[in-house]
Amino acid sequence: MSRIGNLVVHDTDAPDETGEIPTIPRNSSRVKVVEAVIDLALSILETTQGKAALVRTATEIVNERIRLNHPIIYRDPVDRLPDLINRFLREMRRDFPFVYLGIIAGEGEAVRVKDPNWRTDLSRWQPKAAGPLYLHRYIINNMIACLSQPDKARDNYKVFKFQMAITVAHEIVHFLTGLLIDPVPRRQYTPPRVTLEIYGNRAKGESGRFFEKMLLGGVVECYEDETDRMGDQQAGVPWIFPDSKKSSLGFRVSMTYIDRFVNKEFSFPIQTSANYRPIKRSDLRDRSREMTFVREEEAYAETASLTSSQDSRYRRLPAQTSSTASPRPSVRSSRPAQSHTGSAPPSGSRPSPFGTGQVNRAPAPRPFIFWSNTGF
Ligand SMILES: [Zn+2]
Repeated sequence: MSRIGNLVVHDTDAPDETGEIPTIPRNSSRVKVVEAVIDLALSILETTQGKAALVRTATEIVNERIRLNHPIIYRDPVDRLPDLINRFLREMRRDFPFVYLGIIAGEGEAVRVKDPNWRTDLSRWQPKAAGPLYLHRYIINNMIACLSQPDKARDNYKVFKFQMAITVAHEIVHFLTGLLIDPVPRRQYTPPRVTLEIYGNRAKGESGRFFEKMLLGGVVECYEDETDRMGDQQAGVPWIFPDSKKSSLGFRVSMTYIDRFVNKEFSFPIQTSANYRPIKRSDLRDRSREMTFVREEEAYAETASLTSSQDSRYRRLPAQTSSTASPRPSVRSSRPAQSHTGSAPPSGSRPSPFGTGQVNRAPAPRPFIFWSNTGF
């Protein structure tokens, strides 16, 4: 059963001699895991509450763009947005954007096209023309490791699936944002008010976080459990926070809730467990590592050893072939916003895997031109 139409997944780690990034076979475990995650993400969005949160997010974006006199593609009354969102979700399920597995800063990253061909005609919008979706390769690999060792992994696969479905839903909100707003003539982003304190900044908001707050009640972050036998391959322990402040109280997500959630028995907002007392984010971070950092350290260690042996896989990626700026996908990291600077892994020896040329090699219906879109 193909739950996601025309799903095409690439591995940025496996370019062939010509620099082409091949498609991962459709019947591979990795594609099946990716499909399960995307299916769950779309199922969240297709619920009455999921659609309502999308409509609310889209309405805020449209109203704010109009108020700020920024270019907007969507020109119908906002009360028609539910029709557009129904079509958007149907198209996403029918022909999902290209997916790339790579080493990225967060769990998932959407890349938006710079020059939308649907600018003058919304009916021309198609998911694969909207831009690709990146997913963290380690997470997909770890999910497979969990599936193959169920006794050792215990609830890890479910927690991964829960976290990644939320991640993909968040990134899909960015694709919806790209459908609505026009990035020209200047790089104008999600309106600053469409955000969740303190993601984004005075110039741009964070529509994915806004949506998460509307539907889920906050943002989920996973913290390392040092007793977990999966070690660095674990999903971590999920906590939900009302916003990104260090001083905010986190609540442990109920495992019963996650169990139902991954079986598509949805209820919103996320339910928490009464068996664990709330804890301040700063205290939680003092006592355990956020899993995004665990993966960053792993990626850095791996890349450093590859670089020192002059065999960095990133060097084999095709060179940039376009004069457009190298795209930096919007990052849906579970890491709080205030740590975005200062705690990123050293980048000098870790070339960005996102070359415009690389992305251009997607079997796309037309050449993509991407733009730096953090916060879109
Ligand atoms: Zn985002």
